[in-house]
Amino acid sequence: MNRAGREPPEPRRRPPARPAPRLALDTPVTYLKGVGPVRAQLLARLGITTAGDLLRHVPLRYEDASTVAPISRVAVGADVTVLGKVIAAGVLPTRKGLRVFQAVLQDATGMLEVAWPGQPFLERTIAKGDWLLCTGPVRFFHGRRLQPREYVNLGPEEEGTAEGRVLAIYPATEGLSPRVLRGMILQHLDALLPLVQEVIPPALLAEAGVPPLTEALRMVHRPGSVAEAEAGRARLAFEELLALQLLHRRANQLARAARGGRAFVNHRRLTTQLREVLPFALTGAQRRAIRDIVADMGSPRRMHRLLQGDVGAGKTVVALFAALLAMENGAQVAFMAPTELLAEQHAQSLGRMLAPLGIAPVLLTGRLAAADRRLALTRLASHEPVLAVGTHALLQEGVEFAALGLVIIDEQHRFGVEQRATLGAKGEAPDVLLMSATPIPRSLALTLYGDLDVTVLDERPPGRQPVTTVHRPEAARSRVFEFLRSQVATGRQGYVVYPLVEASDKLALRAATEMVDTLAEEALAGCRVALLHGRVPPEERDAIMTRFRDGALDVLVATTVIEVGIDVPNASVMVIEHPERFGLSQLHQLRGRVGRGAAQSYCILLGDTAPEAGERLSLFCGTEDGFAIAQADLRLRGMGDLFGARQHGVAAFKVADPVRDEALHARAQAMAERLLREDPGLEAPAHRPLRQQLTVAHARALELFQVG
Ligand code: ADP
Ligand code: MG
Repeated sequence: MNRAGREPPEPRRRPPARPAPRLALDTPVTYLKGVGPVRAQLLARLGITTAGDLLRHVPLRYEDASTVAPISRVAVGADVTVLGKVIAAGVLPTRKGLRVFQAVLQDATGMLEVAWPGQPFLERTIAKGDWLLCTGPVRFFHGRRLQPREYVNLGPEEEGTAEGRVLAIYPATEGLSPRVLRGMILQHLDALLPLVQEVIPPALLAEAGVPPLTEALRMVHRPGSVAEAEAGRARLAFEELLALQLLHRRANQLARAARGGRAFVNHRRLTTQLREVLPFALTGAQRRAIRDIVADMGSPRRMHRLLQGDVGAGKTVVALFAALLAMENGAQVAFMAPTELLAEQHAQSLGRMLAPLGIAPVLLTGRLAAADRRLALTRLASHEPVLAVGTHALLQEGVEFAALGLVIIDEQHRFGVEQRATLGAKGEAPDVLLMSATPIPRSLALTLYGDLDVTVLDERPPGRQPVTTVHRPEAARSRVFEFLRSQVATGRQGYVVYPLVEASDKLALRAATEMVDTLAEEALAGCRVALLHGRVPPEERDAIMTRFRDGALDVLVATTVIEVGIDVPNASVMVIEHPERFGLSQLHQLRGRVGRGAAQSYCILLGDTAPEAGERLSLFCGTEDGFAIAQADLRLRGMGDLFGARQHGVAAFKVADPVRDEALHARAQAMAERLLREDPGLEAPAHRPLRQQLTVAHARALELFQVG
């Protein structure tokens, strides 16, 4: 949830010079009553530019009397959501110098202290008289004290849930609170709903067991009960799942039909050479994966395979075998990584492995110098069998492969569906190898990637030391940092990781920045420390990474931007702050950054947590099996968090949750399959609105379902 501050009053403006157009779903929000230029800009941050977008801005969750606890009944040790009015607020210093923002909340039943340690700046956004909805653990601290994990400022008037009303909590942004958003949406809801057009034929709706669109939108925005809101959400989720299924299935249908039947011949020339120069023997799992891939590539069917393997399982070398097989058939290979840094790292390490074979990969990223870029493009445009390594820059206009035969996508879940589709569309339906360290249940993989085969690397290369993982309470903080300093003193390096600073969250960002200064002066005095977060510009970020890699920095204080992509074998300690805020899979990815060298490595989770979170974390401390961890994660947190989708902006879905919505999802799969069997181009009059909708929402659909 975004911290919602108090929004500046919308300045009064004269009406726009042009007369407001008649209200339609594509009417820009600026024409809506109550939305001026300032709010329009804030709305744009949430991806809302038209009236229709506003209507599709769906609440994150709902609160009603059944989820909000009466304050008098809140007990120490529980995790609760309360709703109350701020009757006192202020900043208190503590003995350790930490400044704590405190508020006292009151509801009809009692009063409760709420505290935000280290966030004195909240003084500017939370005022006496505001109503706050707070969720978090209750601890004992001179009495009961709630420490919010998240909160929403509902503003001065109570819109509480007292009369059994359901309170919709919208995704918000700084300067535009959930309350204002709710007001805005409710104000226009009745005018907008009649404009909504159904896209799914009634018979299919009935079959899927979901309400019509107009009804569903009413239900999510103005529900009579939480159950009703859920029914509305299910409809929107179903629509998303169905759309994606249709796109994937259609894409695969066409690709199969169009494909000339390119079958690569296993000449065993380059691949044998590689085997001879590798400094290690392949694991059994790697050999099996290579066998699967060689069979796929040798068949005239288009390869569409997902290679899953835990962090460090050795996926890269498997991909390299695939690349060489394509290249010895004269084809070009695109190897795509999610970040520039990772692409460069891949180019380097692949270059090292390929040097004895006389092959040098071509690097193509967004920040290549113009001359280098031209050179790279020339090589791709030639019919040379090159291995191009890059970021999504490989997808850009103006990048032409003369003979693209294979696309490899590393850390595939970080790419959007559209991006994957675009690269797949380059060249003559190339073979596609997706790689992921995040195990995905097969049903989910099908949703995300359509029709695909899966190979699992379930064996680790030998000789790696386990990472000692422990959870330490807040009280051990100074000892933990002392340990980190002692490791640095012996020449090692380390990381201190904080939960992500959201790009939109200036206040939290300031908090992180302040914290680094404090760390550098106190806990890590004498160490060379730098801060890395998502807002650090790319050049600077790389400069920092490079210095860290070269040993010119001892400790990197970072948000999860280090999750993928950094490989510094000398780093042996990772301290993770607020570990309960991370998904287990994220923690696992983070931990994978240490233990890459010969030295014993440590991962220390630091901080007090509620018992429930503590249990989760102890599961994590007890295993390094990424698959077991991911499964636990999936069970505990659901799919959005597992993929870090929210944090990386790569959510495949706005509403659907393919794990939680498994039943819906199965219905969507079956329906898409049947629809396309009966009407492959969705050309029947009853299906046209659906096709139309697909082409509006997904650029790729234009090509797949040729409209007109
Ligand atoms: P990931 O699956 O996380 O992408 P990598 O491909 O980066 O893993 O491999 C991790 C490390 O393990 C690399 O340094 C790689 O050279 C090494 N490696 C890969 N396969 C083997 C093997 N069979 N034996 C020993 N080391 C290996
Ligand atoms: Mg990798």
